[in-house]
Amino acid sequence: MQNITVLSGGMGGARFLQGLLHGIACGRLPGVAPDASVTVVANTADDLWIHGLKVCPDLDTVMYTLGDGIDPGRGWGRRDETWSVKEELAAYGVEPTWFGLGDRDIATHLVRTQMLEAGYPLSEVTTALCRRWLAPAHAGRVRLLPMTDDRVETHVAIADPESASGRRVVHFQEYWVRLRAAVPAELLVFVGLDESTPGPGVIDAITDADLVVLPPSNPVVSVGTILGVPRLRDALVATKAPVVGLSPIVGGTHVRGMAEQMLTSVGVEVSAAGVGLHYGARTDGGVLDGWLVDEVDADQVARVEAAGLPCRAVPLMMTDPDATAAMAAAAIELVAR
Ligand code: GDP
Ligand code: CA
Repeated sequence: MQNITVLSGGMGGARFLQGLLHGIACGRLPGVAPDASVTVVANTADDLWIHGLKVCPDLDTVMYTLGDGIDPGRGWGRRDETWSVKEELAAYGVEPTWFGLGDRDIATHLVRTQMLEAGYPLSEVTTALCRRWLAPAHAGRVRLLPMTDDRVETHVAIADPESASGRRVVHFQEYWVRLRAAVPAELLVFVGLDESTPGPGVIDAITDADLVVLPPSNPVVSVGTILGVPRLRDALVATKAPVVGLSPIVGGTHVRGMAEQMLTSVGVEVSAAGVGLHYGARTDGGVLDGWLVDEVDADQVARVEAAGLPCRAVPLMMTDPDATAAMAAAAIELVAR
């Protein structure tokens, strides 16, 4: 295999990619060439404009993680970050204060915003930013593509007894960062998704791949939005490459993040089997040729296979790049059989 394409959200996808690249570099992935290329199609539905800056959380998490610039403790933003700009904005009383932009991180958003305002599409801006983060570390073998150049935003309806409708709609980032996903998401609205166009190279990356991976990213607001870009799901269904997924739910819960809340709000069972069956087998109108669940969910394998989706239970905790590379190897073995 020479070309691997991964449909990624932020933290879960980035950690998986780290392990995948480690596995390639160490020659531990069966049938994968040591100089294989990895194309990341990343979710952009979390993007927001804040303080006049365009922020793309998932693109940046992938870029900083693979470029070794991520803060490992938080799992987002820059290592050795300082917060002077945030403090100064707060001293002016500038709202909102709940979204933390670090000083180092702000440089990324300034470059991105200036390029967007000069007329460059997000995909070209991302390539430019990646010249710093991905080119040196990965010798041009990793490409990061936004799922679309169009503006798409996930919004969340939450209960609000004070409003006439009984509901209030907030941006996904406000739901996640300010409200900590602690209140039920009554409805998800993917603004602009149906009218969006796949970003340059996205459809080809799926069509021409030797393997497509759905990493343990959020199935609703990360992979779900990527699959919602018109023509993208069709490309996945039609590609000659095997498509394999790894469960983001382990033992009935997300490991970190808020997949539970999102699955509940779209009526999908919060379990490894539930997510696998939600994606579905390609032989039955879905998108997958194989599904990995964690060992603790081994009792769900039979249920997934009964639906025509090959399934195996292996350790799925991304504790370090070695463990994650082993997950990637198991995923490849499952669909290469
Ligand atoms: P986000 O955009 O930062 O929320 O990141 P993603 O959408 O890429 O991934 C978030 C999801 O990754 C979480 O909801 C978890 O379900 C999943 N996740 C995080 N860590 C692990 C892990 O170690 N193992 C598995 N199987 N899933 C994980
Ligand atoms: Ca995200």
